[in-house]
Amino acid sequence: MNVKKTVKIKISKFMEKVYIIFPSLLIKKDLKRFYEILKSYKKFYIAYVQAVDVKEKLKVQYGKINKKLAIIEKSEEKYQLTLDSTYDAVWEIDLITKMFSSSNRFNDITGYYKEGVNSIEDIVKFVLEEDRKIVKNDFINLINGRVLYYQCRLKLNFNGIENRWFLIRSMCLRNTGGVATKIVGSILGISIQRNFEEEINKLKYYDILTDTPNRKLFISTLENEIIKHKTNYKYAKHAVLFIDLDNFKEINDTLGHNYGDELLINVANLIKATMPKGALVSRVGGDEFFILMRNIKEYSEISRLCVKLQSLLNCAIKIDEKHVYTSASIGITIFPNDGYDTNILLKNADTAMYSAKNNGKARYSFFNESMSFIIVRRAEIEKGLRNALANNELEMYYQPQIDIINNKLKGFEALLRWNSAKLGKVSPAEFIPIAEQSGLIVSIGDWIIKMVCLQNSLWKSKGYLYDTIAINLSGIQLQNDDFEENLKNIISETKINPKFVELEITESIFMKDFDRSIKLLTAIRELGITIALDDFGTGYSSLSYLKRLPITTLKIDKSFIDNIDTNEREKVIVDGIILLAQKIGLDVIAEGAETKKQIELLKGMGCNQIQGYYFSKPLSANEIEEKFLRTNYINQ
Ligand code: C2E
Ligand code: CA
Ligand code: CA
Repeated sequence: MNVKKTVKIKISKFMEKVYIIFPSLLIKKDLKRFYEILKSYKKFYIAYVQAVDVKEKLKVQYGKINKKLAIIEKSEEKYQLTLDSTYDAVWEIDLITKMFSSSNRFNDITGYYKEGVNSIEDIVKFVLEEDRKIVKNDFINLINGRVLYYQCRLKLNFNGIENRWFLIRSMCLRNTGGVATKIVGSILGISIQRNFEEEINKLKYYDILTDTPNRKLFISTLENEIIKHKTNYKYAKHAVLFIDLDNFKEINDTLGHNYGDELLINVANLIKATMPKGALVSRVGGDEFFILMRNIKEYSEISRLCVKLQSLLNCAIKIDEKHVYTSASIGITIFPNDGYDTNILLKNADTAMYSAKNNGKARYSFFNESMSFIIVRRAEIEKGLRNALANNELEMYYQPQIDIINNKLKGFEALLRWNSAKLGKVSPAEFIPIAEQSGLIVSIGDWIIKMVCLQNSLWKSKGYLYDTIAINLSGIQLQNDDFEENLKNIISETKINPKFVELEITESIFMKDFDRSIKLLTAIRELGITIALDDFGTGYSSLSYLKRLPITTLKIDKSFIDNIDTNEREKVIVDGIILLAQKIGLDVIAEGAETKKQIELLKGMGCNQIQGYYFSKPLSANEIEEKFLRTNYINQ
């Protein structure tokens, strides 16, 4: 029964009594008693009002509580909803019982459907072996309070098949005594996001064509290795290799960019297949690759791999039924021996690579300090040569060639001299190869032909007696399509009879395009110009094709002449060359004879023409005129 009703009944009963008593009291005029009754009525009334008030208050409070409960219910629902809709799952490690428990979502996220609680050990095995130590350490730090909150991205493997990325967040719960009791956390699958990031990273740090790290990634990896070395005081040696293909531009220009791209992919794969596991192979631009070989024990390891790689590149790479041949120049520098800094190491590798190129390409070079000097010198020479013509620093010298049978001047070999304002006198043996590699030889070569033909024409107009002046030609000059036309123009401009002109070529020019070279030289021969094959014996010297070449003279290289008076074997070779040349109707000239003994030996072998310091060093045109032409030189 409720309070209100009880009070009402009590009041009504009381009032009944009052009504019964009241008239009688009034009749009895017992007013004292009447007041007492009224007083107790008042007390009762107050009690009643108070009771009603309390009830009202309770009612209000009850309403409020109900409202609050509704809110709580709602927020619980919401919480559940939130938990269900977020991708995070909640987990907990009880550090006392060593048990692991998780929300249902954990199973959905991880694909791990083992029911019930698991031990920590069960859970640890999902962490990849290589990360376990680090992760364990991180959790120890969390338990010890060294970190308050721990977050990491981890690759986990829940199904034994694939590793997937997860974001783990966790914190430690402690009892009032501060002792860690639980680690609670969340886990979120981030493989899609991570894969996306990896894609973006790939674009940023990888060369898409060859699927190798790019320069940026290579450099940061190398920097990390150097830092590791510094912090750990390790004594590991690393090698940085710089590989540059020797003929990539030609392939790209002649076969097209698609072939070029295919070649680069093939080369990258060959390099990857050749290099040891753990080596970082990176295409850093064009046809250039950097390689980082870690923990080198012996330099011979690297040499062996370079040789292997060269031989693989030399075998034809098949692209669309076409065979493409290539080779590479490789520069090698060793960390920390050659340098302790990324920039220095890369510069060294570059220097060593250029050294390999300058020494004839298709080879490898280990960096050494003197190479830097050579590279700087090379750059200075190339720079100087560009202005040498305009600055009037070039001059032709002439070295006499003597006919020792008839004791007369056979002619001269024209040799270029460069007296650089900045570098002083530079030997042609040093600057001609640089002029060839830089392509400067084409313009310089035209100038040489013009100057020598002018000189020749002038001397002939003065009536001097000699057969020819020989001009040295570089292979690159002959490759120029305009060569024949230019030559004809110079001959007609300088009004020189072509029979007084000889050209000196080397065997290397036949290596490029044999048929084209034969055609060109035949056309030149038809003009009446004679052709000498220079440095015979040092190159390929294939006797079988000698007869097919449109040449008139064989020049036996100085290196054979040097030893004919001391080395019987060399003497036999020179004897053989002379015999052979005579047999196929070629003139022979021996170059670099310095002693009387050499001259006599050569004479005895039937060599009738000789050029060498024994008679004269190369001289300026004025000196030649003075010493050889005006005096109508006759051998003493
Ligand atoms: P090369 O064509 O074999 O020239 C012969 C070289 O041997 C010349 O050196 C000459 O001075 C040197 N020589 C001749 N007789 C003797 C001797 O008895 N003893 C010694 N020790 N040396 C002797 P140079 O003038 O220094 O030329 C070196 C090379 O530079 C030439 O070798 C040639 O390959 C190149 N070269 C020189 N001038 C020209 C040029 O006008 N055009 C081109 N394309 N190359 C040139
Ligand atoms: Ca020569
Ligand atoms: Ca020569």
